[in-house]
Amino acid sequence: MTDGLIPPRLRNDCFAMPQGVEWVPVDEALALLRTRLHAVTGTEDLTTAAAHGRILAAPATARRSNPPRPNSAVDGYGFAHAATSEGVQRLPLVPGRAAAGQPFADTVPPGRAIRILTGAILPDGVDTVVLEEDCATDGQAVAFDGPVKRGINTRQAGEDVPEGAMILPAGHLLTPADLALLSAVGVAHVAVHRRLRVAVLSTGDELLPDPAAPAQPHQIFDANRPMLLALLAEWGFETIDLGHAPDDAVEIAARLDRGAHDADAILTSGGASAGDEDHVSRLLRDRGTLSSWRIAVKPGRPLALALWDGVPVFGLPGNPVAAMTCALVFARPALSLLSGAGWSAPQGFTVPAAFSKRKKAGRREYLRARLTDTGAAEVFASEGSGRISGLSWATGLVELPDGACTVAPGDPVRYLPYASFGIRPAG
Ligand code: AMP
Ligand code: MG
Repeated sequence: MTDGLIPPRLRNDCFAMPQGVEWVPVDEALALLRTRLHAVTGTEDLTTAAAHGRILAAPATARRSNPPRPNSAVDGYGFAHAATSEGVQRLPLVPGRAAAGQPFADTVPPGRAIRILTGAILPDGVDTVVLEEDCATDGQAVAFDGPVKRGINTRQAGEDVPEGAMILPAGHLLTPADLALLSAVGVAHVAVHRRLRVAVLSTGDELLPDPAAPAQPHQIFDANRPMLLALLAEWGFETIDLGHAPDDAVEIAARLDRGAHDADAILTSGGASAGDEDHVSRLLRDRGTLSSWRIAVKPGRPLALALWDGVPVFGLPGNPVAAMTCALVFARPALSLLSGAGWSAPQGFTVPAAFSKRKKAGRREYLRARLTDTGAAEVFASEGSGRISGLSWATGLVELPDGACTVAPGDPVRYLPYASFGIRPAG
C-alpha cells in the first residue's frame, strides 16, 4: 500500500463569512462550503475486489476491450452472412463446435455453418449467428429461414468498452457494478482516496451517554451521537467516537484536540448557539477560527463552523431533529467534498402534498415526511425539533422554498427521500 499524494491543508479562513452578512440562505451557505473546501485525504492503491465503496483518486482506463474479441450472444449456428440469401437456407455443418473458453481453431468455409454457444469467439469465417430455436438440424446440416441480418446475435470487439477508454472518473464512488466493469476490462488495482475519518462529539451537562444507565430526572440519553456515527458509517467514512463532554471548555477542548489528531473532520452537537451554556461556540471562537453561520433554515439555525488545529469542525445544533437535518443538508455534501468524492446534492422528486401548510418568507424548511400508498407526501404531525419519533417515522424530508408559500393537498412539493442522502432505505 502506498500513501500517495497528500493534499494541501484547508485555508484558515475557509469558513469566513463576508462582512455584514446576517442571515445566509441555504443555497448560499452550500455554495460557500462548496467553493471553500477540497479533498483532504491521501491516496492508496487497492485491488479492485477490495475497493467497493471507495472513491477513485484517478480516472480508471480500460486495459482491454469488452468484449475483447467478437463473440456469440446466443446458442445457435454461425456462418458467413455473404453466402446466405432469401428463403430456406440449408448449410452443412463443419465438425466440432465453438464454445466459451473453447475457441474453434479452423476457418468455417463460406456456405457452411458451425455449432456455436453463447460467449464463444466467432471463428474465422463467421460473422452471423442464428438462434438455435430458429433452426432445424439433423446433426449434418442446419436449416433456417432467410434472409437473416448480417451480424445478428453477435457482439463486436469493444462494442461495450474499447481498450484505452476512460471508464470511471476521479471522484467516483465505486459500486458493485463498477467492480464488474473494472474487472471485465482488466483493471486489477485502483488508486483510491484513503477513507475520510470523522469524529463525533456530544456536548451537554444533561446528557447521559449510556441508555442503560439509571437516569436522574434532569438527565437525557445522548441520541445524537449514535445517530451521527451511524450516518457517517453509511456514508462510508471511518468514524471516531469522541464520546460526550459536559458543558465545560477544558473537557470539550481536550476532546477536540483528540479529534483533530485522529480525524479529518469533527462533528459536534449541542452548545453551538450563542447562549451562556454554548461552550462549543465560545471555545471555537476563542481557540479556533469560528464562524457562526446563521443559516436561514428550519430546523437548524446557527451552524458553528471552525477549524481546530487545521481540522474542520461542524458544530451542529443539539436538537436531534435539527442535528440530523443539518447533518444531511450541510455536513454530508461538505464531508463528501473533503473525502474526494466531490460535492453531493440529494436527488429530489416532485410529488403531490398530502398535507396543508402556510409558511412565512425567510427560512427554507425541511419537514419530516413519508409517502402515502398513492405516492403523496405526508408530514409528521408535529414540527417540534425535539420530536425524535418524527425523524424515525419519516422516510425523507419535504423541502419548502425560502419564500412564503401555502401548500394545499395535491400541490406539488419537493420530496427528498432519506436514500437520496445516502441513507439505506428501510425494509
Ligand atoms: P443545545 O444546542 O445544546 O442548546 O441543545 C438543544 C436541545 O437539544 C436541548 O434540549 C438539549 O438537551 C438537546 N440535546 C443536545 N444534545 C443532545 C443529544 N446528544 N441527544 C439528545 N438531545 C440533545
Ligand atoms: Mg447544550
